Amino acid sequence: MAAQNSDTYPTMSMSDTQTALDSIYRTLISGCHILHYHRILDAYGHLSVRHPTRSDVFLMPKNMAPATVSSPADIVQYHVEDASPVISSSPPGYVERFIHSAIYKNYPEVQSVVHSHSPEVLPYTITGSSVPTFDIANFYHEGDIQDLLVRNGRLGENLSGYFSTDSTQCLQPVVLMRGHGFTAVGKGIEESIFRAIYTAQNASTQTTALALSSSAGVRKNGVASELHYLNQSEISPTTEMTEWSFMRPWRLWVREVDAEGLYVNLA
Ligand SMILES: [Zn+2]
Repeated sequence: MAAQNSDTYPTMSMSDTQTALDSIYRTLISGCHILHYHRILDAYGHLSVRHPTRSDVFLMPKNMAPATVSSPADIVQYHVEDASPVISSSPPGYVERFIHSAIYKNYPEVQSVVHSHSPEVLPYTITGSSVPTFDIANFYHEGDIQDLLVRNGRLGENLSGYFSTDSTQCLQPVVLMRGHGFTAVGKGIEESIFRAIYTAQNASTQTTALALSSSAGVRKNGVASELHYLNQSEISPTTEMTEWSFMRPWRLWVREVDAEGLYVNLA
């Protein structure tokens, strides 16, 4: 799972590279706004994207509330190898950028990462879930600041291991983080955001269903009725369906933030 070698970069002219960068800046900024608009990010949490022509670099806003990101000047380029800034004089970045660097390093197919502290998802990180859940307490070393934040490359590596499953070697699109939030990945910004938004919406729906099933109104003979989750045979087709359909909500979400006065996108 090594990162793509620099010898394999696609050949692009300077103007093509700049055009690709301009496009990715605009999408990244819109993505930050969309994640705030949908309450996936507040003042905390972050979105990143791999560089369009350099697989060993990723782009991420500097240390600021995502809703207020407005131009390429707000975005910093980091090395995938160690989350260090490509330009040493770059403004300070997010403490948890190691979440992003480790995932890009270990999964070449991942092009975008969202890290969120969504309150809809948080209960599932502390009550148990069938979704892989990373408990940072199992990985602290002596001297680590134990504030749940992924503060270094080692902890980022530990988290990134939860995105591969031993049984199928398939990429896990979402990993929960105990007492902290979740991280979602995708083959592009649009897909990672789709995953993040619907992770929170699905968590909210499941919470409501669990509450209903426990209420007196739906009890049978005093026993709470069971929830009916997806069958095994439904998982693969529904996954495929979401993978070809995410551009429809994306276009809506871009229009929503473009129409909202709070958000500025100068890219
Ligand atoms: Zn966090």
